[in-house]
Amino acid sequence: MDKDFPLSGWSSVAVHGGHKQDPLYAHLIPIYASSTFVYDEAEQGMRRFSGKEEGFIYSRWGNPTFTEAENKIAALETFGIEYNGSPVTAKGILHASGMAAITTLLLANLKPGDKILTHFSLYGGTEELITNVLPPLGITAVIADLRDLNKAEEHIKKDKAIRMLYIETPANPTIQCVDIEALTTLAKQNNLVTACDNTFATPYLQQPFRFGVDFIVHSTTKFLNGHGTSIGGIMLGRDTSFMKTKVYTLAKTLGGNANPFDAFLLINGMKTLEIRMERHCSNAMEVAKFLEKHPAVGKVNYTGLPNHPDHHTAMKQMRHPGAMLSFELKKGLQGGIDFMNKLKMCVRTVSLGTCDTLLSHPASMTHYSVPRPEKEKYGITDGLVRMNAGIENVQDIIADLNQALL
Ligand code: PLP
Repeated sequence: MDKDFPLSGWSSVAVHGGHKQDPLYAHLIPIYASSTFVYDEAEQGMRRFSGKEEGFIYSRWGNPTFTEAENKIAALETFGIEYNGSPVTAKGILHASGMAAITTLLLANLKPGDKILTHFSLYGGTEELITNVLPPLGITAVIADLRDLNKAEEHIKKDKAIRMLYIETPANPTIQCVDIEALTTLAKQNNLVTACDNTFATPYLQQPFRFGVDFIVHSTTKFLNGHGTSIGGIMLGRDTSFMKTKVYTLAKTLGGNANPFDAFLLINGMKTLEIRMERHCSNAMEVAKFLEKHPAVGKVNYTGLPNHPDHHTAMKQMRHPGAMLSFELKKGLQGGIDFMNKLKMCVRTVSLGTCDTLLSHPASMTHYSVPRPEKEKYGITDGLVRMNAGIENVQDIIADLNQALL
């Protein structure tokens, strides 16, 4: 594509964004399965190592297939947005997993004595990192209900060690949403660094940089890859020089780099993000409406439904309310087990973001060994079922759920 051609549509950026013509004219970016890169002469090696010449050195430090994925995600996270009246630019660094990207984010910005302010509903791995792995390094967390802005302000004003606001919205597993703009504004007024996990929304539904967030992380394993074929993550920052220096040095030293095959799968998956997300979201809404009326279902948690407590927040910052929902079966634990066993097309598994509809029953699967008071704290009841609405034809999803609910 001609560099000067101004792309005006979202899917055009998803297809062409970040692409650089291969020198051997391959249509798609090749899988650069090479651990090192060679020099024409010793002096070129000197220039590359000293940073005087751009170029690849060693794949833990960077690889052309990673670069295309990084540039495509940065293009999508910044497409069509401004912050403080200026267009937004960003640099991304691809990682082996979402957790590797989050680790780099936290270690690049925090030092012993610093605290993170975060919402109580977070992906379990992130919570483990914050509550168990980081405290021995002197980094701790204040965990609060960040849907209450007054409480958030109280914590920030009271505790001067709070250095970072870290949010995940919609959050895993509860699908709760926090107000990105209000929290970021508050954080900025108090000189905090701000970071948002945008995995559940993807840049198609929500662009946190628009609200002044400093860093975004993704588990690219989910909707960005879209087909459940690889594990990956990315950390993106608006301050490109900080990303190219401190963050780059840390990321390459920690060694949580991606691999070229997974990067290739991710690049191709992202090309269909808009059309997949449109279908995921419209299917989720249809399914939520169907479940709401079903006599076996006690409650449906979907931010697209006007009665959901976070409906207003979700609609303020998201294009559509997303593909994730959960519902409570009236028959509790056994009802959940029976329902899962009767599914014929929808898939019994954890994870999310694939074309297939995936369902999990936390009480008998992910949270089987978690003590009851802990489960209750997160709203995980015995009959709760979590669902990633896939992109199949919605009448088939509903027919499968309906026969399993009988
Ligand atoms: N963030 C969120 C919101 C997630 O749901 C997950 C995984 O489920 C992660 C981060 C971690 O990503 P990964 O499994 O790619 O390390």
